[in-house]
Amino acid sequence: MPHKVIFVLIDGLAWQVAHDCMGHLQGLCEAGRASLYRLTSALPSLSRPLYECLLTGIPPVDSGVVHNQITRLSTRTSLFHLARAAGLTTAAASYHWISELYNRSPYLAVRDRFTDDPALPIQHGIFYHADSYPDDHLLLDGEYLRQRHDPDLLLIHSMNVDDAGHHAGYDSPQYRNAARRMDIFLSDHLPGWLDAGYQVIVTSDHGMNNDRSHGGILAEERQVPLFTLGSAFSHAPEVAVRQIELCGLAADLLGLSHDKPRNQELIRR
Ligand SMILES: [Zn+2]
Repeated sequence: MPHKVIFVLIDGLAWQVAHDCMGHLQGLCEAGRASLYRLTSALPSLSRPLYECLLTGIPPVDSGVVHNQITRLSTRTSLFHLARAAGLTTAAASYHWISELYNRSPYLAVRDRFTDDPALPIQHGIFYHADSYPDDHLLLDGEYLRQRHDPDLLLIHSMNVDDAGHHAGYDSPQYRNAARRMDIFLSDHLPGWLDAGYQVIVTSDHGMNNDRSHGGILAEERQVPLFTLGSAFSHAPEVAVRQIELCGLAADLLGLSHDKPRNQELIRR
């Protein structure tokens, strides 16, 4: 049975910090309503390459989106393209690089910040371009899109955790507290989303290091969380998950036909 999906991408959230600091999500895990998995990001552990990886299932070494300054449309079939091909409704509240990868490139704020165009892969968008754009405002943008357009696929992509890491580093109160704040902000919305029958994926592109950057192979740069929330997930305790499988996971939940890498152990049979 097809499901609606909310894909929450918390930029720059290392696994250990998600595990230690996100008490609402961990409370849902403890109550048996969510599961937390650890996965290793593709390489390099950089944002734009890994947005492409998460949303197409193709790692940077194959997609050609190998660093953040590559500003062009993706040449691959994304989750948004798959959803549109099946006639589903798509939306995103996201950093503007997502608009550049799948809608229009380069991003022109006056044209693209508020997007409503049924012909685009992301039909309804609220895109921001300041790394300090507040996470709670971003979540309200996503909730606005959900209530107004009833999307089958909604991407919500926040930036404050990554921003805090670039200012203060991995092992810092600022970085951990940004994750704690995001957890609290999510707790305002998750119960309503789950009651409405959405299947929710919460994950990250990459983590953070103590040099206030990321890109390499350190555990704190590569290990990221995957929380699954909703009745369509298996909530199996031990599942090996690859980052390239999350596009296919969302596509399977949406009932789409696709040739992406998939992980059916995460889905209830
Ligand atoms: Zn970053």
